[in-house]
Amino acid sequence: MAGEERILVSVRLRPVNAREAERGNGSDWECAGPTTLMFRGNIPERAMFPASYTYDRVFNPECSTRQVYEEGAKQVALSVLSGINSSIFAYGQTSSGKTYTMVGITERSMSDIYDYIDKHPEREYVLKFSAMEIYNEAVRDLLSPDATQLRLLDDPEKGTVVEKLTEETLRDKGHLLELLAVCEAQRQIGETAMNETSSRSHQILRLTIESSAKQFMGRGNSSTLLACVNFVDLAGSERASQTQSAGVRLKEGSHINRSLLTLGKVIRQLSKGRNGHIPYRDSKLTRILQSSLGGNARTAIICTMSPAHYHIEQSRNTLLFANCAK
Ligand code: ADP
Ligand code: MG
Repeated sequence: MAGEERILVSVRLRPVNAREAERGNGSDWECAGPTTLMFRGNIPERAMFPASYTYDRVFNPECSTRQVYEEGAKQVALSVLSGINSSIFAYGQTSSGKTYTMVGITERSMSDIYDYIDKHPEREYVLKFSAMEIYNEAVRDLLSPDATQLRLLDDPEKGTVVEKLTEETLRDKGHLLELLAVCEAQRQIGETAMNETSSRSHQILRLTIESSAKQFMGRGNSSTLLACVNFVDLAGSERASQTQSAGVRLKEGSHINRSLLTLGKVIRQLSKGRNGHIPYRDSKLTRILQSSLGGNARTAIICTMSPAHYHIEQSRNTLLFANCAK
């Protein structure tokens, strides 16, 4: 199915950090070539799971975010310029490098999109940007200081829309950078006010591009293209394994569970060839992303992992998710 895959799956190992190095039990994982990850840990349970794992791409700790972008996301992100919706996800446990990876990928994608537009003066482009956060199955606008929960509505033409979500028409790249800073500030304010942590919320940054041929004398291709690309920094995947205790924590856990688990189910169905019912409607995350997941849309998933032995359980869970998406 080469070239036709709709879901591009890669795994990125981050470097061992100081705290992990201090624990001194080294790295369990190693890349053997561009597509194979090997388990090197020396533990008694070793025989219980496979020693080698194959994905579209694997990135060792020395790989730069540029490389991860070029080989694991670029093609999918830039399909928005051809009128094809797309989503790029970072999936992995808290502190595995999701945000580090997504920030870099988002900036590079935006930069390449603007370069492309500069090279195509024959077309007229309108870019719009919106940003939201899903926390406890509540959707919040990251471009507005108003923290009220936004409703999802079913539009007969557009599908699911987020009611009252701010959509800024971009003047230029500088404007976009300003808005990214606003999002980050809003996210931190919300975190403090609601006593939440980013490990529990999903963040979606969405760039919508509409383009049409400028009218030249006589002829001109008047076709209009409209599509969006979504950059999704997911909640920590440890939230998918229910180990919360009681009360509020359980509620938070189970809600995040719902969006992450539903995403897992949707991805699994899509990767199997999209037969039968796909449970998009079971969570806010998958409802919002429905038009950018499956169908004609393109998807890239970057699974981030700490190579440290200390994290073996979570790393294996992350690889199980990656396996389902292949
Ligand atoms: P997450 O979003 O998954 O919780 P972060 O992206 O915040 O994790 O990463 C945790 C820490 O590790 C941060 O301090 C980040 O700068 C660092 N880090 C993550 N990935 C890398 C990498 N590939 N190279 C260097 N530092 C990294
Ligand atoms: Mg993060």
